[in-house]
Amino acid sequence: MLSKALPDYKAIYDAYFSFAQQHFSAADMVHADREGIFNDTLWHKAGEMSLHGLPVDEASGGRGYSAMQSCAAIEGFAKGCTDNGLTFSILAHAAASTVPLYLHGSDGQRRELLPLLAQGKVITCNAITEAGSGSNVYEMSTLAERTADGYTIKGGKCYITNAPVSDYVLLYCMTDVTKGFFGGVSAFILPADTDGLQRGPVKSKMGLRTVHMSEIMLDNVAAAEAQLLGKEGAGAVIFNESMVWEKTMMCAMNLGQLERVYENTLAFCKKRKLKGKALLNLTNIAHDMADVKVAINAARGLVYDAACAIDMRAKDALQRSSVAKCFVTENAVKCIQKMQVIYGGAGYLAENNIEREYRDMYAALLYSGTADIQRNIIIGHSN
Ligand SMILES: Cc1cc2nc3c(=O)[nH]c(=O)nc-3n(C[C@H](O)[C@H](O)[C@H](O)COP(=O)(O)OP(=O)(O)OC[C@H]3O[C@@H](n4cnc5c(N)ncnc54)[C@H](O)[C@@H]3O)c2cc1C
Repeated sequence: MLSKALPDYKAIYDAYFSFAQQHFSAADMVHADREGIFNDTLWHKAGEMSLHGLPVDEASGGRGYSAMQSCAAIEGFAKGCTDNGLTFSILAHAAASTVPLYLHGSDGQRRELLPLLAQGKVITCNAITEAGSGSNVYEMSTLAERTADGYTIKGGKCYITNAPVSDYVLLYCMTDVTKGFFGGVSAFILPADTDGLQRGPVKSKMGLRTVHMSEIMLDNVAAAEAQLLGKEGAGAVIFNESMVWEKTMMCAMNLGQLERVYENTLAFCKKRKLKGKALLNLTNIAHDMADVKVAINAARGLVYDAACAIDMRAKDALQRSSVAKCFVTENAVKCIQKMQVIYGGAGYLAENNIEREYRDMYAALLYSGTADIQRNIIIGHSN
């Protein structure tokens, strides 16, 4: 007999897919991509389905979903929403700001901020990367020095998704250099208009051009103790936990995007005729498409394995999220490149979208840690 839980996942996936198809698939993405247009209205609209806070309890504005249910929602949404930058922007906020606030916020922070974050009423960014500390996050140099009534923060962050449009910044700083990354790093949640906190100009990027990214400069920013997220020194634990969620949720997003590109390409292969026969009759093309389908199904298995590890509070949840990230991102990029070739010259034209899908997916090789770093984690956490 089928598990009773199964129709639940399907209902969630279907609901988010329909929502995205109805409201998030109409935009002229060629224009939006070329001009780098962030769709603020749609960003907030996604709050109607609490996409910004799926695991947060309903009383605080979320859906109270497990990680597996959250992934079903994200997979469906990402398949239906043609603006990959927008989906990425929402999920960066959801995974790396809403989830940490939900799990580690003080009563006051949760009461005041959590409903705003979970329902997408405010936009946040999370800032850990620095010019001299990306993969090697433990070498961060942004300092939060103790003062009589809190902290003074000096330093800078780069590659920060959502920074130019954010209302709040989840900022990781060194509070005790003698302790290093574990114990020495703390997380702060600060209004983005705090004195001394400045955002640089929007960066021009290869892909995900509809989500805005910039540097953040921190020049003697005053932070109160009440703006710490969790205790002083808890930043590394909060960050690592948020990365497990982020990698898992982003992989569900990559999966949804890949499913959409696969279905569109399959339709193209059936429609496009060479010598009167559909492209799909060519064995090489049929096999390429079969290989993409194999990768999609394998990726789905690993996304839900990582989500299951979160739900089970499994000790190897970090490792399993890295396994998913390695496989899903590398295969998603390879698959889209393979499908782009199937379009022939048409695949090189912006109007057919596949070149944008490739550029957008390429970013997955970098954000939330490169595949090299995921492999280091996988081996570092193997017995
Ligand atoms: C689209 C996008 C969005 C992003 N959003 C955010 C954000 O919102 N917030 C944020 O804080 N950051 C963000 N980042 C930054 C991202 O997390 C870093 O770019 C990433 O972790 C890599 O760091 P780096 O760029 O400094 O590269 P480096 O660390 O300099 O790496 C360079 C190369 O060396 C390899 N390498 C480095 N160290 C090792 C090692 N120990 N073993 C093996 N190989 C290694 C890497 O794999 C890579 O190939 C974003 C980046 C992108 C592209």
